[in-house]
Amino acid sequence: MTQQNSHALVAYFSMEIGLNPLMPTYSGGLGVLAGDTIRSAADLGVPMVGVTLLHRRGYFYQRLDQKGWQSEEPVAWAVNDFAEPMEPRVSVEIEGRAVHVRAWRHHVTGMSGHTVPVYLLDTDLPENSPWDRTITDTLYGGDSHYRLCQEMILGFGGFALLRALGYGNIFRYHLNEGHAALLVLALIEAAIGTEPRNGEVPPEVIEQVREQCVFTTHTPVPAGHDQFPVELAHRVLGSRRCELVQACQHQGALNMTLLALRGSRFVNGVAMRHGEVSHSLYPGYPIHSITNGVHAVTWAAPSFQNLYDRHLPDWRYDQLSLRYAISIPGAEIWRAHQDAKLALVDEVNRQTNAGFDRDVLTIGFARRATAYKRGTLVFHDVERLRRLLKEAGPIQFVFAGKAHPQDQAGKDMIHRIHSMRGQLSVAYLANYDMMLARLLCAGVDVWLNTPLPPMEASGTSGMKAAMNGVPSVSVLDGWWVEGHIEGVTGWSIGEKIEACGSPAEDMEACHARALYDKLEQRVMPCFYKDREGFIEIMKHAIAVNGAFFNTQRMVGQYLRNAYRLVGQDVNGA
Ligand SMILES: *Cc1c(COP(=O)(O)O)cnc(C)c1O
Repeated sequence: MTQQNSHALVAYFSMEIGLNPLMPTYSGGLGVLAGDTIRSAADLGVPMVGVTLLHRRGYFYQRLDQKGWQSEEPVAWAVNDFAEPMEPRVSVEIEGRAVHVRAWRHHVTGMSGHTVPVYLLDTDLPENSPWDRTITDTLYGGDSHYRLCQEMILGFGGFALLRALGYGNIFRYHLNEGHAALLVLALIEAAIGTEPRNGEVPPEVIEQVREQCVFTTHTPVPAGHDQFPVELAHRVLGSRRCELVQACQHQGALNMTLLALRGSRFVNGVAMRHGEVSHSLYPGYPIHSITNGVHAVTWAAPSFQNLYDRHLPDWRYDQLSLRYAISIPGAEIWRAHQDAKLALVDEVNRQTNAGFDRDVLTIGFARRATAYKRGTLVFHDVERLRRLLKEAGPIQFVFAGKAHPQDQAGKDMIHRIHSMRGQLSVAYLANYDMMLARLLCAGVDVWLNTPLPPMEASGTSGMKAAMNGVPSVSVLDGWWVEGHIEGVTGWSIGEKIEACGSPAEDMEACHARALYDKLEQRVMPCFYKDREGFIEIMKHAIAVNGAFFNTQRMVGQYLRNAYRLVGQDVNGA
């Protein structure tokens, strides 16, 4: 162990981090994953610091009117209840002017007391212009100009603030998604200075930066990748900086994924299939896979925490022990599940007056309301669904999820689901957040997932469900390609991705038929007529999937494969 490494630090940069259910600093899966990563890093004693933006007005608070139309409000929250302001100020040059930045610190404390500090960057300072004061207000808000300014704050401001706070010893920078890519440029600039260079970055500087950076990509489709028109980039970054990243332009846009790919020695996708798909998008770059996970203690419902404490006493420290869930008596699994289910049923009835019944098969679907997630797939053929309910037994459906304010197709989808209430047992819960996710993922009997393949990079809510013994019925995409064993950990919709035709409409009809068949022939008979068989599947969801799809395993893979921190003194003693 060398002196340098005994203090080796990983700086984790992410535009959103779900630190606490009461801090609206995240929008969905990406932020929750970032939070779970930091919680597991704290548990494992990894020397890490997190960097993100403060998001004073959050993502947004979702209201649904009586017809199921979404409207958005800024989230009001008391920043100083959750974080403390730091002294140092730095400035970032944006459009040729200095924007001043400070940070607020929030501590995440692990199982054994190790803490990971997270710095939330804030431009709401009196020395800034009124507009600049709003840059760190709204996650994914405004137009692309606003978003690029936010990315300047994250990359350049984050880098400068860590230095100002005295972190001179960063061993690895982890870029969580392309939003953090300007960090690469900040590192290049720190190495070569701000003298004009005719756009040349010496190869040894690129090598030195690459050695320090790890990049995780989260989107399997080119349209989902963060990019900005070149003119806009010139305006915001200035021409000197823009010249340095000329090689990262693609079709008239500065492509943040390309910038992060070029600046990182280790790149990974977030599930096995996603790594393969990403590699085919960017054939010049080796892309590894490190499959996502969830933080076990955060996502196990109180009744399951209690059950695991009694039967698997090491589970909080060692999530491999979840493998031994196969030895927990079925009646106890069922009792813990009934507790979690009752908590959900009560909440659904309180919020929506849907009249849910705890003995009825309850299927949950909660995700970002956007076209590719296909939240309305289960209503593709309402007649068929009605017949199925008549013959195989009742089902109640609970939904949740926000549409991005500018995603009209997503808003239409929420409205359509909401309007099924008249004819079927359907509830749509407003303002999906971590608190609601805890109730939903644990409290339903089956977790439904219907993305249009190959659009789901990983998905994590099904992992939260598995942590509570809840099996998934899902299209074979994202993590389910790895987590699915038919009739053992849950069920697939369709056999193989390729088996369902290619135009999206054909695939939708094909997947809908496959879903109805699977519900009718497998899921419903199992739930209503073979309770013991159903409980066996619940056990395997925990033992096979809970034991693997957790962030303790995932952070271990980052330590060994990406950060190369293993063998060094990760406790920083
Ligand atoms: C876990 C979680 C998500 C991500 O779910 P996916 O399965 O990736 O769609 C989104 N939002 C919230 C609030 C979550 O807790």
